[in-house]
Amino acid sequence: MPLVTSTEMFKKAYSGGYAIGAFNVNNMEIIQGITEACREEHAPVILQVSKGARAYAIRTYLVKLVEAAVIECPDIPIVLHLDHGDSFETCKSCIDDGFTSVMIDASSKPFAENIEITKEVVKYAHDHGVVVEAELGTLAGIEDEVNVAADAASYTRPEEVEEFVTKTGCDSLAIAIGTSHGAYKFKPEQCTRNEKGILVPPPLRFDVLEEVSRRLPGFPIVLHGSSSVPQEYVKMINTNGGKMPDAVGIPEEQLRKAAALSVCKINIDSDLRLALTGTIRSFMNEHPEKFDPRDYLKPARANIKEVVRHKLVNVLGCAGKA
Ligand SMILES: [Zn+2]
Repeated sequence: MPLVTSTEMFKKAYSGGYAIGAFNVNNMEIIQGITEACREEHAPVILQVSKGARAYAIRTYLVKLVEAAVIECPDIPIVLHLDHGDSFETCKSCIDDGFTSVMIDASSKPFAENIEITKEVVKYAHDHGVVVEAELGTLAGIEDEVNVAADAASYTRPEEVEEFVTKTGCDSLAIAIGTSHGAYKFKPEQCTRNEKGILVPPPLRFDVLEEVSRRLPGFPIVLHGSSSVPQEYVKMINTNGGKMPDAVGIPEEQLRKAAALSVCKINIDSDLRLALTGTIRSFMNEHPEKFDPRDYLKPARANIKEVVRHKLVNVLGCAGKA
């Protein structure tokens, strides 16, 4: 099947109590690792490209690589989504390039301005059969060109969501309930430590999610910054010359709970980066004589695939839903 929008996916995910994985893609191996796992697990998937990824890969390449994945995986629905579009122009450019979904992130702007910008994107997108994700509230952390200090972050205000969705016509809404971008989601002083000395972050604000869902019945909610930062890969990085002390993510059982509620799309990026980097660091250490990129990219791709498989089956609940 050709690229699809997320409309049908979200309808089924909402009523089925699961979420679709939205994985960030930057190169061929990442796209292959993700889509091979989804093909084997019969899971629908959203491949998302940030503005930074588009600049890195030079715009045409990622679109063509995703089109190749569509050909190789004909039985699973695949969405090509723009992550954190920062302007109408960026969104328009992606829509013109064949993306089936875009995010306009004007969440750092005042409420009325966020509505105006989002509305303009929705008009152009819907005229071209493309769906739009918008955002209310601000996540902390760093993702490509989006960088928000912890004290500048704010939870979504549930009392704003109905007016926002009605006035903009957006198709899904990213909200801030305590997730955060990057591999350092929380400062150690925000966390407690478990018996192994691993940081345990503050719990997500399920009260905010529930109030948003009560006000927007049936409406798909999106969580950004939802990597769990697997400690096995942090350890692999740190024992092979890396330096990522106190990297910490969102516990997977909280994401599973969110997926069972109104959250239909969960964004995961850092976990795949950690798997790729950990595998390559470990390989380089063990095989200092090797220099063929295929030698280390192959196991890195295989480990990305296993991370994605684990998410589909154990966290998102979307395995078998394609
Ligand atoms: Zn994000």
